[in-house]
Amino acid sequence: MTAPEKLQTTCCIVGGGPAGIVAGLLLARQGVDVVVLEKHADFLRDFRGDTIHPSTLELLHELGWLDAFLQLPHSRMTEVTVSLAGSLITFADFTRLNLRCPYVAFMPQWDFLNFMTEKARAFDNFRLRMRAEATDLLVSSGRVVGVRARTDAGPLEVHAQLVLGCDGRRSIFRDADEMEVIAQSAPMDVLWFRLPRRPDEALPFFVPGRGRVLICIDRGAYWQIAYVIPKGGVDDVKAAGIDALRANVAAMHPQLADRVDALQSWADVPFLRVQVDRLRRWYREGLLCIGDAAHAMSPAGGVGINLAIQDAVAAANLLGPTLRQGRAPSLAELRRVQRRRALPTRVTQALQVRAAGGLYPRDLDDDPSAHVPFAFRLFKVFPLLRHLAGRIIGQGVRSEHVR
Ligand SMILES: Cc1cc2nc3c(=O)[nH]c(=O)nc-3n(C[C@H](O)[C@H](O)[C@H](O)COP(=O)(O)OP(=O)(O)OC[C@H]3O[C@@H](n4cnc5c(N)ncnc54)[C@H](O)[C@@H]3O)c2cc1C
Repeated sequence: MTAPEKLQTTCCIVGGGPAGIVAGLLLARQGVDVVVLEKHADFLRDFRGDTIHPSTLELLHELGWLDAFLQLPHSRMTEVTVSLAGSLITFADFTRLNLRCPYVAFMPQWDFLNFMTEKARAFDNFRLRMRAEATDLLVSSGRVVGVRARTDAGPLEVHAQLVLGCDGRRSIFRDADEMEVIAQSAPMDVLWFRLPRRPDEALPFFVPGRGRVLICIDRGAYWQIAYVIPKGGVDDVKAAGIDALRANVAAMHPQLADRVDALQSWADVPFLRVQVDRLRRWYREGLLCIGDAAHAMSPAGGVGINLAIQDAVAAANLLGPTLRQGRAPSLAELRRVQRRRALPTRVTQALQVRAAGGLYPRDLDDDPSAHVPFAFRLFKVFPLLRHLAGRIIGQGVRSEHVR
């Protein structure tokens, strides 16, 4: 058996998604030695959400990189408007946010991650290992002291004062006894697909129909479409056949009727089982989970990336000073990160499950237009509510700032 390559660092971050890359960058910027392990070869993965929130743009401003970042191709959304029961309801308005960029920027997630990684690489104490998949923890006297990983070159052991679990909703750390998962009931599942887009073509962002909701995201050359269905409805949708799916899409957006043939089979329509949950305890000695690893978010409201990044900022602010001295954070310090981020997580998940749930079909015969939640009707009358929703979605429940 090949002897493992051994690396020593102060903070080993498992997962190069929004939480891991931002945490690695901010810690390295504070002078902490960081190794990030990412199991994929690059960031060019399936659709994972494209939203860069006003609070993330503010963060880029605080770091002095906003102008360079906004040179990357993106589109901007200043309000979220849904078409319900024949009328348009704006339920989130970002224009009054007291931030540098009062809008959500839509940009492929890999552009954001490549930009942040490039900035991080400017620090000698930041090391990113791609194609390095963490497989299990290194534990000594009950304390996490690193991780084992597999790489193309053979096994790797990374020894660290702290392991930061940023490996998403299927985190390997969730198996540990201390990391009990509290599951919530998500009201929907999602089928994702792409259809070609004509230059300058516009489509409504959110359109409900019987047993489904269509969310269309402009990605330049194509539409990224979320076909939201009731929880557990995927077998029935598939049993009805791909032709029925094409016909439903064409019925909701007649201008796409000439392109639905691009959906040749179910292989063109990946399925996402929506999961909303959180860990009761995000940490144990030597280990802290943040982002989706600590709390899997539903795509409703498109806030998972924002929450993951805000977790990373809070973790870097609270743990950076200890790690900079090469010391392992105490349990009390790790607990402080969870305490700070638990409220935004709980509030956001409650809104995703309860408030946003009313916008989606309950079963395949249900048309959500028929039961527009009363609260949403109030959005038409009280602009203040639209600004409040804009604040919760755009800025988050508790804003974090780079120290
Ligand atoms: C289809 C879909 C659409 C979404 N749309 C939106 C949206 O529009 N807006 C929004 O805000 N959120 C959206 N989300 C949610 C959002 O993607 C997550 O909330 C966010 O990415 C969480 O960031 P993270 O860094 O915590 O985890 P992730 O983004 O999941 O990143 C985890 C990283 O860890 C890596 N990894 C996993 N296991 C290991 C391992 N063992 N070793 C090494 N590396 C590992 C993965 O490859 C990945 O790069 C969507 C999610 C999905 C699935």
